[in-house]
Amino acid sequence: MGEKKGRFKQWLKRIMAGRYGTDQLNTVILWAGVLLCLISIFVSGTWVNLLLTALSYVCVGVALFRCFSRNTYKRYKENRKFLFLLERLKDREHRYFACPKCRQSVRVPKGKGKIAITCPRCREKFVKKA
Ligand SMILES: [Zn+2]
Repeated sequence: MGEKKGRFKQWLKRIMAGRYGTDQLNTVILWAGVLLCLISIFVSGTWVNLLLTALSYVCVGVALFRCFSRNTYKRYKENRKFLFLLERLKDREHRYFACPKCRQSVRVPKGKGKIAITCPRCREKFVKKA
């Protein structure tokens, strides 16, 4: 039994060599696919069902594509971006602005009224209501 498990592990290792595998973003995409599939059950027989089913397939497809992708750097960057956006959504104490000149995102404390912001990258000054 133990040997069989070891062999499976080796096989999996060989298959996944040089491939990206899974990450937080993939987990969310997969769960979204499962959720869409579950919701579609309740609206069976309608075009919404078709749409949800199609979307759930797309989710699973994207997750599989990312998992077996060899472009690990690009996938890693996607996940980083996703985690960054998630962090931003959870952050209730700050507001985020994009610098009008270089698009660098700047974080400022919330509820201070109008404030002058200096971009940390290009030193551009702009005023925003935070
Ligand atoms: Zn800037």
